[in-house]
Amino acid sequence: MAVNRKLKMGMVGGGPGAFIGEVHRKAARMDGQIELVAGAFDIDPKKSKATGKELYLDPKRVYGDYEEMIAAEAALPPGERIDFVAITTPNNWHFPIARDFLKAGFHVMCEKPMTLTSQQAKELQKLVKKSKLVFGLMHNYTGYPMVKLAKDMVTKNDVGKIRKVVVQYPQGWLATALEKTGQMQASWRTDPKQSGAGGCVGDIGTHAANLAEYITGLKITHICAELTSFVPGRLLDDDCNCLLKFDSGAKGVLHASQISHGEENNLAIWVHGEKASLEWHQEHPNYLYVRRPSKPEEVWKRGNDYVAAYSKAAARNTRLPSGHPEAFFEAFANNYANFAETVKCAIEGKKAEALALDFPGVDEGVRGMLFIETVVASSKSAKKWTALKK
Ligand code: NAD
Repeated sequence: MAVNRKLKMGMVGGGPGAFIGEVHRKAARMDGQIELVAGAFDIDPKKSKATGKELYLDPKRVYGDYEEMIAAEAALPPGERIDFVAITTPNNWHFPIARDFLKAGFHVMCEKPMTLTSQQAKELQKLVKKSKLVFGLMHNYTGYPMVKLAKDMVTKNDVGKIRKVVVQYPQGWLATALEKTGQMQASWRTDPKQSGAGGCVGDIGTHAANLAEYITGLKITHICAELTSFVPGRLLDDDCNCLLKFDSGAKGVLHASQISHGEENNLAIWVHGEKASLEWHQEHPNYLYVRRPSKPEEVWKRGNDYVAAYSKAAARNTRLPSGHPEAFFEAFANNYANFAETVKCAIEGKKAEALALDFPGVDEGVRGMLFIETVVASSKSAKKWTALKK
């Protein structure tokens, strides 16, 4: 049966002072396909209620915790209950919340890293595969049109066989012991019980690894890594340096850092192939640089006809004409738009088209957890080069 209505979204996390929950709320409603109707927004039930009030939600659908939310939403008739939940809590909560919503028959959009361990990640993968439920993972950087253009250039063999990938994600906001001031985002990110085995590597290294695998279509097979906690007393890494080997024989360098003064969100990638090199920067996301031997440098600019003519994916994930910059919110919204179309198809019993299925999911979540565990193992090992287990 056709779904002639907006999809109904619930949220766990995103209470007062939280960062990414509000980004999800804005991005999800950008295309008018999704409405937020319910939530358990905070670890503190009173704060959850306060957020629900600020968002003008029906107080009956603002819950004290996610278990109460599952029970109450599952008791509502289909079409009235939420269609999916967005999980925007710290990492330690992703697994139990995703597992329980999946078991209750809800589709899930989850923040990264997907879980605390690869074992939990594989358990979610099994649950998703045996259900007809849709699982999205918010590796938002794959949502940028120029990233999709880069992927298409690799797929169409315009880059040639890939020789080397360089990817970086430096930040500077944890260069001092911010967690000791009680700052909310710093506190849980530096606590292994809430963050997992990786600090910087889990928080932003996973974005870099995901971006490299997404654009190139290659899989990382071996890692030689060095993790460091530069800030005295910090229990998790705040700096991560890796050499990579890919399944095609390509080589890579990945570095992520949270102690690099002055760096904001300087995620950038260079893909060097036999025919051409690509370069993309998250802080200037509307441009893709292409360099070919003995030719002037090309700057491909988002929103132009020549981009649309080359890449259906870039065109589909573009909203504004060239010169009106699109960035973080739009990339998030692209993942939501593709996820929403896929959820609608699932409800209607249809398979979504390939362009709609172009958003990260549970398989990327498993890759992310294996990446973190391999980097941690390599960093501890004297032998260094460590195989990424399947
Ligand atoms: P935050 O500390 O700003 O907010 C977390 C919120 O979750 C708070 O409101 C907290 O009260 C709530 N919460 C905690 N446990 C809960 C529970 N059991 N039930 C309901 N609410 C609960 O954290 P953040 O920076 O927004 O990060 C949240 C998640 O998003 C993390 O997994 C992080 O890795 C991810 N993240 C992703 C991106 C991205 O670009 N994709 C960016 C930032 C954060």
